[in-house]
Amino acid sequence: MEMGCVWMRRMYSGGAISALPVKASYSIPSSSLLPFLRHMSPVGFSLPSRLPLSTAACSSSVAVVPDDEDSSPLSSSFSSSRYGSYESSRISIKKSKVLLKEMRYPELEKWVELQGFRPGQAMMLWKRLYGNNVWAHCADELEGLNKDFKRMLSEHAEFKALSLKDIRTAADGTRKILFSLGDGLVIETVIIPCDRGRNTVCVSSQVGCAMNCQFCYTGRMGLTRHLTAAEIVEQAVFARRLFSDEVGSISNVVFMGMGEPLHNIENVIKAADIMVHEQGLHFSPRKVTVSTSGLVPQLKRFLQESNCALAVSLNATTDEVRNWIMPINRKYKLDLLLQTLREELPRKNNYIVLFEYVMLAGVNDSLEDAKRLISLVQGIPCKINLISFNPHSGSQFQPTPEEKIIEFRNILAEGGCTVFLRLSRGDDQMAACGQLGKPGPVPAPLLRVPRQFQMALNASSS
Ligand code: SF4
Repeated sequence: MEMGCVWMRRMYSGGAISALPVKASYSIPSSSLLPFLRHMSPVGFSLPSRLPLSTAACSSSVAVVPDDEDSSPLSSSFSSSRYGSYESSRISIKKSKVLLKEMRYPELEKWVELQGFRPGQAMMLWKRLYGNNVWAHCADELEGLNKDFKRMLSEHAEFKALSLKDIRTAADGTRKILFSLGDGLVIETVIIPCDRGRNTVCVSSQVGCAMNCQFCYTGRMGLTRHLTAAEIVEQAVFARRLFSDEVGSISNVVFMGMGEPLHNIENVIKAADIMVHEQGLHFSPRKVTVSTSGLVPQLKRFLQESNCALAVSLNATTDEVRNWIMPINRKYKLDLLLQTLREELPRKNNYIVLFEYVMLAGVNDSLEDAKRLISLVQGIPCKINLISFNPHSGSQFQPTPEEKIIEFRNILAEGGCTVFLRLSRGDDQMAACGQLGKPGPVPAPLLRVPRQFQMALNASSS
């Protein structure tokens, strides 16, 4: 759910805006290990750019970021020994190997016991995978563990689900990381350093996205497949491993990279559970934010099963506009979405939802929109983030001028809303909100512009 991305400077209301192809060798595992090996399914067919909104895993052999990405030089920050060894790394998942990061702790403990080792060894392994500044990527990095246990892990377990492909550093310090997956597809993760110590990693949950939000570059890709829990978790592990020395502790995770997280809810909830485990990565649940375009049944399930934070990408105050710029609204209308939040949030303790609102010139930024927004969020414990739109190639929208964003913000604040402004981060490296990924030769279609907005789009682009 990319448009909620926070590689933007956050300002509280009251001031002006200051501002390689990888081939894995797969085999059919024993049935007891199947849950941990789902990602290994052989693939070999292409999917249409728009898929039904099921949560079933899907896959494709199509590489969505072409290999010309390989020609881009690695940035200077990519030379330290800590990650130099990954420069030409490949994931090689051997026959019958279990992927460790696909397991929650109780599953890992059970697997370790099945291999004939004590549960205590499982905890020692967990801490070295996720904690204690180790973030181990191979058995050799498991200092202090018993030799036989390490040998068993070398033979039967796989530590890595991702292979580092490139790191690009934007002028403002934002880093975009490209990872290759086991089937050769490429995903993007963003690190957003913050001088107040609130460093954030923005993770992807899918390769591409099926939602086709009209203002989003990732949406033009269509959906290729869901990421596994291991592929999601490892983005956060890599972020800490690569950048903790450089930028300090990475304390926040936002599921706002490529994909609609709740379309992949099973793996997203599992990945979030692993991220907040106290003996491991130990992110605070309130600092792990899952963003959605508004898949109502999955949103309900998420609120019931997870303690992590929720962001809803709203971006419009009428069904007419939202049906156009976020086609998911044709299935789950604004009223239903907001009523669901009104009913579900009080069941949770002290829980606030974050509404994301991307400001599109002449489309959703009128003073009437501001007034409607105030009444739409009535009765919902919430904060609102106003986001400056990041243009990309092929985009038909323009950003709302700064003064108008401030005026919009002031109306919301006067109406009693808690409202923030966020400016773009990392846009010179296409790392900003709504800019991740790369559409293929046949991008998802742009939808017909409602007649009353055609003039506004023309005027804002001239
Ligand atoms: S198209 Fe997908 S990634 Fe882009 S904003 Fe919509 S839900 Fe998020």
